[in-house]
Amino acid sequence: MVRHQGINNTILELVGETPLVKLQKITKNLKGSYYAKLEAFNPGHSAKDRIALHIVENAEKKGILKKGATIVETTSGNTGFSLAMISIVKGYKCILAVSDKSSQDKIDMLKSMGAEVHVCPANVAPNDPRSYYEVAKTIHRKTKNSVYINQYFNELNIEAHYRTTGPEIWKQTEGKITHLVVASGTGGTISGTGKYLKEQNKNVKILGVDAVGSVLKKYHETREFDEKEISPYKIEGLGKNLIPTATDFDVIDIYEKVTDKEAALKSREIVKTEGIFPGYTSGAVMQATEQYEKLGMFDENSFVVLIFPDHGSRYMNKIYSDSWMKEQGFI
Ligand code: PMP
Repeated sequence: MVRHQGINNTILELVGETPLVKLQKITKNLKGSYYAKLEAFNPGHSAKDRIALHIVENAEKKGILKKGATIVETTSGNTGFSLAMISIVKGYKCILAVSDKSSQDKIDMLKSMGAEVHVCPANVAPNDPRSYYEVAKTIHRKTKNSVYINQYFNELNIEAHYRTTGPEIWKQTEGKITHLVVASGTGGTISGTGKYLKEQNKNVKILGVDAVGSVLKKYHETREFDEKEISPYKIEGLGKNLIPTATDFDVIDIYEKVTDKEAALKSREIVKTEGIFPGYTSGAVMQATEQYEKLGMFDENSFVVLIFPDHGSRYMNKIYSDSWMKEQGFI
């Protein structure tokens, strides 16, 4: 694959075509071979560039989004960063409702990128007027000439990954992929990428990663929304306290849940073993991969692709801060 040669007219031309890197050391005791798709190589440093650009350009094509309009979104930070970047290049105003669980780094970054940021409490029900969903909806209602991206309930979120992430992985692995391990938040990445890969080879297994404290795994197994599953947790962007329609549960074969502590320690282990500086959910994906391996999911012939959604620099005050790790009792 030739990556971004020559001159690009804007930074947005760099979205997608992210590299796949073989994991060498962290996987040495696991059966099979393992490859990480590094979404931090997107210009906004996360997989969310893909969906943000796809949804915005779709709205432009439909004539819903015109120059000078306002983009409104609910985001744990990454989608917001991508939308803020796109808004600057394309000339939109950007207003974001962010949960107070998002790291201060992410919130500061969004503001630096020119977005108006509304910080909302994380641990309230989705239909609570203070929740970031309701705050975003209210802003959208009150702001003339605004578009609500609505990533949790927008099928274009799935389509973005179906059109880009899926084909890239199929090409990069020359069709050898046997398993895909993906963090599930809105579910766009796992659903779109998984759907494309299963269409190429129905035997590819799609393995989801969920958080302890989230409803997704139980919902996948029972199709029951079980409020008792819900409890506060620290990992941003993973799991949910609602059922997003941007998740196609039929594409996903199985889910594993991971804890805040194991995901945090695993992120740090990725740094020390591979020299890759990943975000918190990348640690969650690596942790879940090891759990899947222990369950006997893989053999010597397994060709496992892990999606690492974003970059560690967004978590300097969290998993890469010794004092934060100590406060949590993780080290
Ligand atoms: N990791 C991070 C850091 C994220 O921000 C997100 C998005 N919420 C995910 C993983 C999950 O991706 P998706 O929303 O496509 O399920």
